[in-house]
Amino acid sequence: MTNHEIKINFWEYASVKELDTIDQDLCVEAVKAMKNSHSPYSKFRVGAALLLKSGKIIQGSNQENVAYPSGLCAERVALFYWGANHPDDPIVSMAVTAHTDEFELKRPVTSCGSCLQVLAECEKMQNQPVKVILFVGQGPVWVTNGIESFLPFLFFEERLS
Ligand SMILES: [Zn+2]
Repeated sequence: MTNHEIKINFWEYASVKELDTIDQDLCVEAVKAMKNSHSPYSKFRVGAALLLKSGKIIQGSNQENVAYPSGLCAERVALFYWGANHPDDPIVSMAVTAHTDEFELKRPVTSCGSCLQVLAECEKMQNQPVKVILFVGQGPVWVTNGIESFLPFLFFEERLS
């Protein structure tokens, strides 16, 4: 038996105010995106904003449905929109935030495995990593450069052999 250890790497900032202006602006866009969240069932609002190399911003928010599995997370709403409309304009960074009136969120909400896997595919399509910025309210911000730290066992065809 062999024991393996995997180290992941991310940065924590005390608040959005510690980020550079470009990242702060993207966080503002993520908060704006959250306003269009359709989340009457979970009452958990999520907003995502992508900054593309051209400077264009893409917003996404979680879209729920009475047939629960038909809904989609904010990240994938934004990422699939990118793939469908701007695949030649690389994603530089993605900011994600969340809010619920049900309880206080004290730390960033990490994306689900499906969204991380989709982001991994986007990185592969554009052949460069995406800076991910996760934050809530006035709390700490988690930043990583590229998806692999958040999903070290991501599924890639190249890893099958
Ligand atoms: Zn998700």
